[in-house]
Amino acid sequence: MTVLGPSHDGVEHASRCSDLDLAPALAALEAATSVTILCHVQPDADSLGSGLALAYALSRRSVPVQVSFAEPAELPQSLRSLPGRDFVVPAEIVADEVDLLVTVDCGSVARLGALADRLKGAHQTLVIDHHRSNTRFGSINIVDETAESTASVIARILDLLGTDVDSDIAHCLYAGLVTDTGSFRWVRPGTHRLADRLLATGIDGARIARTLLDTHPFGWLPMLAKVLDTAELVPDAARGAGLVYAVVRRSDVDGLRSEEVESVIDIVRTTTEAEVAAVFKEAAADSDERWSVSLRSKELVDVSAVAISLGGGGHSFAAGYTTNGPIEDLVSSLVAALA
Ligand code: AMP
Ligand code: MN
Ligand code: MN
Repeated sequence: MTVLGPSHDGVEHASRCSDLDLAPALAALEAATSVTILCHVQPDADSLGSGLALAYALSRRSVPVQVSFAEPAELPQSLRSLPGRDFVVPAEIVADEVDLLVTVDCGSVARLGALADRLKGAHQTLVIDHHRSNTRFGSINIVDETAESTASVIARILDLLGTDVDSDIAHCLYAGLVTDTGSFRWVRPGTHRLADRLLATGIDGARIARTLLDTHPFGWLPMLAKVLDTAELVPDAARGAGLVYAVVRRSDVDGLRSEEVESVIDIVRTTTEAEVAAVFKEAAADSDERWSVSLRSKELVDVSAVAISLGGGGHSFAAGYTTNGPIEDLVSSLVAALA
């Protein structure tokens, strides 16, 4: 288990962030004759919003651009509210060859899923991300692990490109910013400045947040009742800092969306007695004992390192991995990784 020191203050973040050399990325974007933008599998608002904002900017420079993600086949319902959906193409029609391939919010090749094979057909590859675990798999890598969202990195790039950030682009960027900061809980110097600037374009911040984060069908409530009833506290885990976990079976979420499943961790992680929270999510009813796992921590434990040790990745305080096996074994493996 990696224990984090007390150096996570915003002042350090701000100075480290300005060291980032964006020039190679700008040169590649300015010279590109065709661009594919790939989001991570099971895209979230940061990945899709970043991709669409960049697509608007390129398209206005008359560069042909496609945005895609390997799975699922359809966009999660809440993300269909973002402007720019016409840039999104199904994974199977993503061009095999392209001048510049950009990945947004992807920490590793594995996060591209079946579209990872498009990397080899690209003349150049540009990785734009903010994951601590990023493996720098591009020919150009812009990875700012101090950034609160990939959308924040894209905002800086668009400014340097001289892009007019209008309400469509602002909507896409705000979607990434509001979700990855947990509605402005995890913020740093500059976060609110960016939000202010985006809101000044006239976008409806309350509505965007409500659509992406605060809208669930009634069936969510009985699902939560069932799932939260599985919660267990392991006080000795993480060297006595405590682990809390809950289990989401496919049968609990029948007819519900990924948005309902992904909301569970945000309740479980609030447990006072536990530094680390985990939600085990059964992947699909027909693929027996395949699980994706969400990890969160508060301030002591680097869950990115824990997730990497279990085959995944993420940020210091929010990470995840996928795994196989009976749930009891998965809990034991996580407790062991936290030891
Ligand atoms: P989630 O719990 O799915 O919201 O994910 C939290 C963070 O961990 C996000 O930044 C994800 O990009 C990252 N993450 C989740 N699952 C994986 C995985 N299987 N491999 C690598 N990173 C992951
Ligand atoms: Mn993401
Ligand atoms: Mn992100």
